Amino acid sequence: MNEALRVLREHLKRAGLKRTSQREAILRIFLELPDFLSVDEIARAVGARDRRIGMSTVYRSLKLFVEAGLAREHHFLTGRTTFEKSGGGGGRNYLICTRCHRVQPFEDPLIEAVRDKVCRGLSFTPDFNRLEVYGLCSRCRGPAAEED
Ligand SMILES: [Zn+2]
Repeated sequence: MNEALRVLREHLKRAGLKRTSQREAILRIFLELPDFLSVDEIARAVGARDRRIGMSTVYRSLKLFVEAGLAREHHFLTGRTTFEKSGGGGGRNYLICTRCHRVQPFEDPLIEAVRDKVCRGLSFTPDFNRLEVYGLCSRCRGPAAEED
């Protein structure tokens, strides 16, 4: 947390922006929330702690967190913009439920192996990649289908 706060303060300084207690309060709350929430959901969580902080302040702060490298903004094809706390690295993959919008990140070295094989064959130098898989999560698929 202190590290995130330091990163935010440095970013604000570089960008010539003011350090405000609201921005820092939003960062503190954001870091405690689960990943892949929408702006509305994050604003609701922030508002529950401090009713003086409005939706637009939350939205602008999230943009700042993205610029500072503290968060990632995702525009999945389900049409929902969500935010993930950034842990560095660009090669994450995601399972996205088209019904409840639940997102599960995953990593598998097989994906990188396939990528490298394809890139070698096409003389392409990969920088980063991400795979998005759309479907139904175990909760939405229901218990009947779980034992296959
Ligand atoms: Zn689901």
